[in-house]
Parts: sequence; C-alpha cells; structure tokens
Amino acid sequence: MNIDNNLRQLLENETKIHLAEIRFLYQKLDRQLGLNGARVPITFGFDTDRLGAYTPGFGQDEEEFHFSLLFIGYCVTKPLSKDDRMDLYKHEYAHYMQYNMDIPDKYNWQPGIHGSAWKYCCSLIGAAPTPYYKAGEGLIKHDYDKVLKKKITDKSIPIRDTYSREQEYRKKKNSTVKFNINDDVNHPKFGKGTIEHIEQLEGSVRLHVRFGEGLKKIDQKWLLQAGMKKAGAPRHI
Ligand SMILES: [Zn+2]
Repeated sequence: MNIDNNLRQLLENETKIHLAEIRFLYQKLDRQLGLNGARVPITFGFDTDRLGAYTPGFGQDEEEFHFSLLFIGYCVTKPLSKDDRMDLYKHEYAHYMQYNMDIPDKYNWQPGIHGSAWKYCCSLIGAAPTPYYKAGEGLIKHDYDKVLKKKITDKSIPIRDTYSREQEYRKKKNSTVKFNINDDVNHPKFGKGTIEHIEQLEGSVRLHVRFGEGLKKIDQKWLLQAGMKKAGAPRHI
C-alpha cells in the first residue's frame, strides 16, 4: 500500500497523543497488577497487515509494544473507534502479562500465543479474548469462563498481530531434526523402540519408531518433552 506523504506526516504528528493514551492506560493496569508495562518502549509504524504487536525481550529482540498508525490513527479513512483502540492496547498488554506474571496452572491447558494463559490475562483486564480484530469487539461483554474452556475457531481478519519472529522461531525449532535413524528411545507405554524413519514436516518432525512388531508414528516434540532423549539444553523463550 502506498501511503501518501501528507498522510504519513499527519499520522506521525499524532504519535505523541497515542503515546500518552497508551501510557496512561498501561500505568493504570500496572497499578492494578503490580507490573511495569508502561515502561516498555512503544514504537509506531505503518503496517498494513497487523494492528499491533508485543515482542518479549528474548535473545536479540528488544522488548517493545508496536502499533500501526494506519489503524489507530485519527486521520485515516476508517479509524478504529475509541473502544476498539483501547481494546487493541489491552490485547497487547495481555501478551506482556503472559510473560511477566505467574499464570495459575489451570490456565495453562491450551498452548499458543493466544492460548488459555493469554485469555486468562485478558479476563483480568477486560480485553476481548480473541486474536482477530472485529469492529465493536471492545464493547461486547465477554464470557471469559466460556472462552477459557473452549478453543477459538473464529478466523475473521485482519489479524491483530502476527508475532512473526516468534512464530518463525518456534516453527524452526519444532522442525529441526533432533534424532537419528537407529536411535533408541524409551516410551513409557510401548517400552524400548528404534527410530526407523524420520519425516521432516513444516513446523514438526514425525518419527517412525519400531516397538517390537509395531510401528508408531510419534511427534518428535512429544518425545523431547517426555524427556525420552536428552537433546541439549532447551533454549528459554
Ligand atoms: Zn495477539
């Protein structure tokens, strides 16, 4: 998308106001939760494919909140309503909470960036517990109890944020082969087995393991989690 220089300039002039609005909200949430989200740097861009993002500070990544002026700006053709804007800020803050708060075990059943831990965080601050943006979502009363027990199937677009770097990292991590053919593994149910074949898939690795007469297809991730083979120290993410 080509952004006209005039519009770009107008939007850039708005950033001070947005910054103040976001910081004010985050300070309020920080006080409520005993966190420091308002101190995390906030950057703005002209992203067309995402409304905002939170990057946790791991490895070479700097921790930051990021928002697209093309959505939050006042002078774009279809600006977000104030409620939706505030909801977007809370959405990203809930991601920050995920990494900076203790999540009770019972809210860790569903993995993923927008899994149950994140939804639990949403419930604490009144953010819409959906990863996709839909106009008016910020106004709806949400049944957190229900979403904390159920998977999201809604796929309305545009996606609120992408977390592309993290997703890529996870994908790469999960599709890196950590075993060799003929490696022995110990399965809690099937006993000792030998890897006969390795399939490298997008985002995962499938191992074909022989247990006596039977051949089982097992996800490598599962074997690693179950600690059936030591494969180096896990990188913290
Ligand atoms: Zn998100």
